[in-house]
Amino acid sequence: MNDRKAVFLFSPEWDKINYPQGCPFDTSRAGKTLTTLKSMGILGGSHRKVVAPAVATRAELERFHRPEYLDAIKNAEKGILPPEAFSMGIGTPDCPVFKGMYDYAAMAGGASMAGARMILSGEADIVFNPSGGFHHAGPASASGFCYVNDVVLAAMELLDAKKRVLFLDVDVHHGDSVQSAFYERNDIMTLSMHESGKTLYPGTGFEDEIGTGKGEGYSVNIPLPVGTYDAAYKRIFKEAALPLIRKFAPDVLVMELGMDALSGDPLAHLHLTNNTFVDIIKEILKLEKPVLATGGGGYNVEATVRSWALLWSVLCGEDDHDMGIGLGGVMLETTDWLGGLRDRVLISDAGIRDTVDADINRVIHIIREKVFPYHSLR
Ligand SMILES: [Zn+2]
Repeated sequence: MNDRKAVFLFSPEWDKINYPQGCPFDTSRAGKTLTTLKSMGILGGSHRKVVAPAVATRAELERFHRPEYLDAIKNAEKGILPPEAFSMGIGTPDCPVFKGMYDYAAMAGGASMAGARMILSGEADIVFNPSGGFHHAGPASASGFCYVNDVVLAAMELLDAKKRVLFLDVDVHHGDSVQSAFYERNDIMTLSMHESGKTLYPGTGFEDEIGTGKGEGYSVNIPLPVGTYDAAYKRIFKEAALPLIRKFAPDVLVMELGMDALSGDPLAHLHLTNNTFVDIIKEILKLEKPVLATGGGGYNVEATVRSWALLWSVLCGEDDHDMGIGLGGVMLETTDWLGGLRDRVLISDAGIRDTVDADINRVIHIIREKVFPYHSLR
């Protein structure tokens, strides 16, 4: 099936803003992904288009964020940085002050909201906002390179339209602020697969965080050990996540496709290849529901761009068997892998595999014990 109406959200304006030198977050990844796709011809045809969405208005941002926090971001940009701003996380190494920060955050927020509306109106079946996925931003707190939580804003749009929403977050970091925003709701399930908070920021996302009140059983956390490799990741997805996703039966899926879980990412410690995310997206597409995908982390820029191009192709239903043909190092701006968009198979040490497997088994067991019963699953 390659006739899905797919929209890639991007504006050249966004390429003009970047985080300060030395900050690992690189806004150029979205534009580079688009360039890769264009050169491969994966954006042609009447079913696929690039749309530059509107910037979120102040009123739209205030649906989730506190007015004083939004003011603090604006003021920080003007050089006004009182102690209150710092206590909101603004001006820290992870959330530095830079020119255009408010506009960039509002653009990312506006884009994911626009994507949600395109899905609601039927204009799109698949939307990808690679400039989104700021899952750490809280109502009045900046954290982990995130200022405005576009994911929460987009999910709110869908929930207001009475849709059942499944948020699947495969960024290597726990989707903490999206989880908190919806912790008491049962019309949205948040499911985050991430490196364990024992070894990685933000230090949350453990198996026993399952929601409260009527939201109990609707927050799902799959913490993963250092060294988690493809087969282990796919196994826990299949045994712990997929039954919950199917049973929840969402109307719309929101996905965060941060590519910092890939092996070699400078900020994390998993051992995955992008082939795993291809398989996961293919499982998600079997549900035959619209998908709003966002970007997120991914601090090896080349690997992230290549993987996002690959995942967009798969989301579009493009058969990816011949994608490697004709692609060279010049186009992908690298010389170390000329084989196309897919990663090479990675081998793990047997000893590490055993340690990972034991921990994966433990987490599968806990989720089946603690979360499955809320959904009449065993
Ligand atoms: Zn991340």
